[in-house]
Amino acid sequence: MSHISIAIDGPAAAGKSTIAKRVAKKLEFLYIDTGAMYRAVTLYVLEHGDDIIKDIASHVHITFGINDEVYLNDKDVSSEIRSPEVTNNVSRVSAIGEVRTYLVDMQREISRTSSVVMDGRDIGTTVLPDADVKIFMQASPAVRAERRLLEETARGNNIDIAALTAEIIRRDEIDSTREISPLVQAEDATLLDTSHLSIDEAEQKIIQLVEDKLEVQ
Ligand code: C5P
Repeated sequence: MSHISIAIDGPAAAGKSTIAKRVAKKLEFLYIDTGAMYRAVTLYVLEHGDDIIKDIASHVHITFGINDEVYLNDKDVSSEIRSPEVTNNVSRVSAIGEVRTYLVDMQREISRTSSVVMDGRDIGTTVLPDADVKIFMQASPAVRAERRLLEETARGNNIDIAALTAEIIRRDEIDSTREISPLVQAEDATLLDTSHLSIDEAEQKIIQLVEDKLEVQ
């Protein structure tokens, strides 16, 4: 049986993971948070140094738990990968060719064995260029900063909105201008601006796109 893949790309805090997770649950597909994979590699690199990158496959083993926990070499790092230190370094590490090759191969392998909803920056352009449905999710900078503020507050972090806005802008700039697989909307992706949509509405729009696509096949 061939598997279905849904690619969701977009800048930081546009709502990708919240909505992708819900769509995956509804469709009973696997949800793959590729940003979490880049974060896990970044955590390892911060702890062990850049030198390991040339032999990344023998150092870093990433798996997901049934509740989307992220395991790095069998240790649950779901919280650690959201630390400000990882967030501030992830775009630099993600721009390195060896890191991307290693993770992209892994992401493609997962999509060969399961139907997936995969979110990230280069899914529709590079990882799964033949994805059945491609979404480019956007939201205004103010809405994105507000969402990040809510997330950080829920984690018990007290970070001011100006610092969060600066972090989002900086990360998007590095992600969009890097040489390898920069963040760009795939030509055949549907643009979904979530600035004025509820989570339910955004989820519904994607489900509709999937249903339309599958019906015409
Ligand atoms: O999705 P999230 O914001 O957690 O991603 C963290 C970082 O990982 C991004 O800012 C980007 O640098 C990198 N990333 C990437 N390619 C992906 C997913 C994430 O380069 N497919």
